[in-house]
Amino acid sequence: MTSTTMTSTTMTSTTATGTIPALPPVVERIYEDVLRRNAGEREFHQAVHEVLESLAVVLNRHREYTDLKTVERICEPERQIIFRVPWQDDRGEVHINRGFRVEFNSALGPYKGGLRFHPSVNLGIVKFLGFEQVFKNALTGMPIGGGKGGSDFDPKGRSDTEIMRFCQSFMTELYRHLGEYTDVPAGDIGVGAREIGYLFGQYKRITNRYESGVITGKGLGWGGALVRTEATGYGAAFFAAAMMAAAGESFDGRRAVVSGSGNVAVYGIEKIHQLGGTVVACSDSSGYVVDEKGIDLEVLKHVKEVQRARIDVYAERVPSASFVPGGSIWDVPCDVAVPSATQNEIDRDAAATLVRNGCRYVVEGANMPSTPEAVGLFREAGTRFAPGKAANAGGVATSALEMQQNASRDRWTFEHTEDRLEEIMRDIHTRCFETADEYGSPGDLVLGANVAGFLEVAEAVHALGLV
Ligand code: NDP
Repeated sequence: MTSTTMTSTTMTSTTATGTIPALPPVVERIYEDVLRRNAGEREFHQAVHEVLESLAVVLNRHREYTDLKTVERICEPERQIIFRVPWQDDRGEVHINRGFRVEFNSALGPYKGGLRFHPSVNLGIVKFLGFEQVFKNALTGMPIGGGKGGSDFDPKGRSDTEIMRFCQSFMTELYRHLGEYTDVPAGDIGVGAREIGYLFGQYKRITNRYESGVITGKGLGWGGALVRTEATGYGAAFFAAAMMAAAGESFDGRRAVVSGSGNVAVYGIEKIHQLGGTVVACSDSSGYVVDEKGIDLEVLKHVKEVQRARIDVYAERVPSASFVPGGSIWDVPCDVAVPSATQNEIDRDAAATLVRNGCRYVVEGANMPSTPEAVGLFREAGTRFAPGKAANAGGVATSALEMQQNASRDRWTFEHTEDRLEEIMRDIHTRCFETADEYGSPGDLVLGANVAGFLEVAEAVHALGLV
């Protein structure tokens, strides 16, 4: 639960992750309203707070955004759908899960954003992800609005047929809200190519339409696009490379640590290796592995994508690796940290350890993996920091490229699509960098991303009238 406290001189907010600084007066009332109307949704509060902190400079410059309540409108989802998902396991036991789709903002295009299947999913988490998605999608420069969805279903340990039955039940309700011009989901935690296949299959069956553009992350044989699988991880590595280039540096000879071992992590590691860096540690929720020779991707992919096993199996198979159960992967010294598992995985202590060990770059592969306290500490220490809404935008940008190929019945080569992705990530970096400069905070990519994304959405919101 978030609480707000007024002292004689400052106002602070207390969230699950600690105390965050007071907001400038011009946005303070907006935040108080968000707290009041969305009680208990602490991740959503955190995401809104972080954006509002950046927007004070914009509101001071553009009076019309205050008069027309532009920020308030962007903080309120256009539509929130919550539904029951009943399904039966292999033993015949009935389970009831909860499904969510938050259609946050469609000023720039159809709602676009992934589906997350994880037991921690609740409305506040889906709203934080949807809110972030609005700005991220705007930063890509593509015509896509923002949304997010998912369920508190836990796919871990479930058989293929159980996963299929769950996906079919989930889509049996969700399908009525989707459409290539309405709302286009994709994957996220717990939703990969297998789940997208079952979801699309059920959509096609119910609607009797082969509407490829209704979902992205599809298999290559049935409407998918090359590079979509790799896109978020590759994109984060390209973004990191752009940050390093701006500082006259490169990945060459650098040590990196990437948390997680899912879609984003695996392809982040692959691209960092291709760019000359060495990733020495990765993780899952059971612990982390350290491999000073550099993570062997062939083994990692086999363990995670084929065996669907826990990360300790990697250490059993690779003699140079060791497994640390539990613990914090951020204890492993590195030059570049790429958190790619989940929200709030780097807290103040982890950030302090990273800084003490000489980490120079933190590039968020996941959504909001650093707590506000951690981000504050990176700022103080001069650690270069890239927020997820900029650094992990490669996934959704390539989803938009998949939609483009679906619409034109075309198929691009891997090289062509990867070139597009690299160019998009470089452009996003430049945009965030230049916007930070323009608004008086050189090098602050958090402010740059929030302001650049906001301005793009705000302009469209105004053009469309009071809707
Ligand atoms: P995956 O499900 O493929 O992988 C998630 C990884 O993170 C797994 O290794 C998982 O371990 C670990 N993890 C998840 N939750 C926790 C937790 N609570 N504690 C510790 N470890 C955890 O998901 P993705 O790689 O797709 O997504 C990772 C992050 O990137 C998320 O924040 C997502 O929102 C973000 N993202 C993903 C995009 C995409 O295209 N896939 C696009 C943009 C952002 P375990 O298996 O043990 O749970």
